[in-house]
Amino acid sequence: MGYEKFYSAAEAHYSKLRRENSAKADYYLGILHSDEKYLSAYNAYNAARFDLFKAKRDGSTAKIAELNEKIEALKSEMRRIKAEKKIDDGMLLPHYSCAYCKDTGVTSDGKFCSCYKKFVQGEVLRTLGLTERVYPDYDDLAKESENRLDAIYEKMRNYIEKFPNSKSPLVISGEVGVGKSMLALSTAGKIAEKGYNVIFLTAYELHAVFLKYASAPFGEKDVYVETLTDCDLLVIDDLGCEPLLGNVSLQCLYGVINERSANSKPFIITTNLTGDMIAERYGEVLFSRIFNKRSGVEIRISGKDLRLKK
Ligand SMILES: [Zn+2]
Repeated sequence: MGYEKFYSAAEAHYSKLRRENSAKADYYLGILHSDEKYLSAYNAYNAARFDLFKAKRDGSTAKIAELNEKIEALKSEMRRIKAEKKIDDGMLLPHYSCAYCKDTGVTSDGKFCSCYKKFVQGEVLRTLGLTERVYPDYDDLAKESENRLDAIYEKMRNYIEKFPNSKSPLVISGEVGVGKSMLALSTAGKIAEKGYNVIFLTAYELHAVFLKYASAPFGEKDVYVETLTDCDLLVIDDLGCEPLLGNVSLQCLYGVINERSANSKPFIITTNLTGDMIAERYGEVLFSRIFNKRSGVEIRISGKDLRLKK
């Protein structure tokens, strides 16, 4: 349900783009066609082209030459009038904002265009009040031998390949600075690259979204939670860093996690907290959803603070 809103917004966006772009072309065409000289040259040009077709069919060489000459003269007359009015041929064609999908959102091979995905993601971020993510390059990070995480990055490729049928939830735990967020962020980037709807947000930002949910008027509330439950991949970075104010945050968090678990929708959580600390902070029920022994997996990164190593 949640993403329907964004898909409808995209549809409206593209139909408006197409309308505006063809309106511009229609406007310039209107200027030309209201000019009597241009219109008569244009009509004569079309008639001559038709005659040329007939002449070619009949094989009358002299007639063909005569008509070709006439057509060239009419074309040059039309060009002269266009130049006079400062209208070039490009202005007479619908101008597309995206050359790949011609403002339809779908490319010629039937896939969603990258402009479409960008638009939908932009709408999602705007709704949730988030800024655009810059995903670090996964392969670059995986190559960095210094980070000692090469084995983990290799293992994670399996997760990316299998997505959306990867193990879930995936918990990446470990102390501050061991590289959990970068691993999660670059993984999210790889999955977004494959065309999936990905929402990556810190627990702190998630908390802010839940506060928006709480203060939104009834009827506008659902979009916040539905967006989080409906995206293909949800990544909550640094669970445990957010304030726990009242019950709103906890209830919303439970709602989102529960809904995603029930619908087998993948999510990734990074945290400094141990399982025991999660159970204590969020309760046993949420703990059991996050550390799901049956379908989930935990990657525990141990070691010295990588940020201090530099
Ligand atoms: Zn496009």
